Amino acid sequence: MTYRLPKKDLDQTLRGWANQAEVFVPQKREGYAQFLPWEAGAELLLDEPHNTRFPPKDFFLPQSETLLTYNRKLSQLEMPALQISPRIIFGIRPCDARAVALLDTVFATADNPDPYWQARREQTILIGVGCNQPATTCFCTSVGSSPFDHAVLDVLLTDLGEAYFVEAFTERGEALFANLASADANDAEQADKIKQQASALLEPAFTTDNLKDHLDQIFDSSLWNEFAQSCLGCGICTFLCPTCFCFDIVDEAQRDERVRNWDTCMFRVYSLEASGHNPRPSRAERTRQRLMHKFSYWLEHADQFGCTGCGRCVRYCPVGLDIRAMIRKAAATPSEVMHAN
Ligand code: SF4
Ligand code: SF4
Repeated sequence: MTYRLPKKDLDQTLRGWANQAEVFVPQKREGYAQFLPWEAGAELLLDEPHNTRFPPKDFFLPQSETLLTYNRKLSQLEMPALQISPRIIFGIRPCDARAVALLDTVFATADNPDPYWQARREQTILIGVGCNQPATTCFCTSVGSSPFDHAVLDVLLTDLGEAYFVEAFTERGEALFANLASADANDAEQADKIKQQASALLEPAFTTDNLKDHLDQIFDSSLWNEFAQSCLGCGICTFLCPTCFCFDIVDEAQRDERVRNWDTCMFRVYSLEASGHNPRPSRAERTRQRLMHKFSYWLEHADQFGCTGCGRCVRYCPVGLDIRAMIRKAAATPSEVMHAN
């Protein structure tokens, strides 16, 4: 079903939803766009060409989360009650919604679902806004997506100028817009044109033909050392990535809590084993792991790349390491240079 939401009515619509759910919308605070709770008078940032600085993955996988509390004297373990209220994330970009779908293949599997992730997913409605003007750092079309991809979205909005063209894909999404007037054929035609123009703005960042096999073949290349020479190992590229999900589980003995914290494969200690051996001892192996995971191992796991082309790692890497250029260089590296070191 499709609807028309005049922009002048958006505030009132959000106000209505805020009576029944927590509503999060991109807003500017501390100089950058971030998802914040909607409140009356909030200045929304829905037409920025680039994404929020932090991806919305922490709505489902918090940066730090207590998994269990325990009583050592009584040898008892208890899972904290998960009281997640209904939430609406309004203005999520298609690449970030697609990242949530990718992470579902890790945390919402049929045989071993993560109850913490599941509880949050079930309570969250995703309302996306497509990207009329993708940023220069975006490359979603190079990794099998597009600026108006609606995978896992409950609703997708297309900015028509004075109004949004609203496409509802789920019952719960539909229910939020059911009191609006239906869109007409002109709206649909205008939205189609905008979608096509947006995709056409994105140049291919690299070719994915045979990419996985090629990366597997250059696993031992000296190329990874070359990349590692610039990398600081700061981990920004992974912490800001909507699909990166490395974590560590630690016992906070003073609090009698077992806690899951975000971690990153870009840190040396992440792969350090108890024996002192580290299978990824230098930044070369860690850089290789980051790229191989996204462009080779994810294909084995979910038949999709583990990168949605959101461009955050390109935008925020402090030394300008651009994953698109790295993949292009890797693709152009002949397997003959293997074992050069
Ligand atoms: S953000 Fe850049 S410098 Fe930092 S770990 Fe990632 S690639 Fe290396
Ligand atoms: S690897 Fe970079 S461009 Fe790809 S999803 Fe992660 S942050 Fe976005």
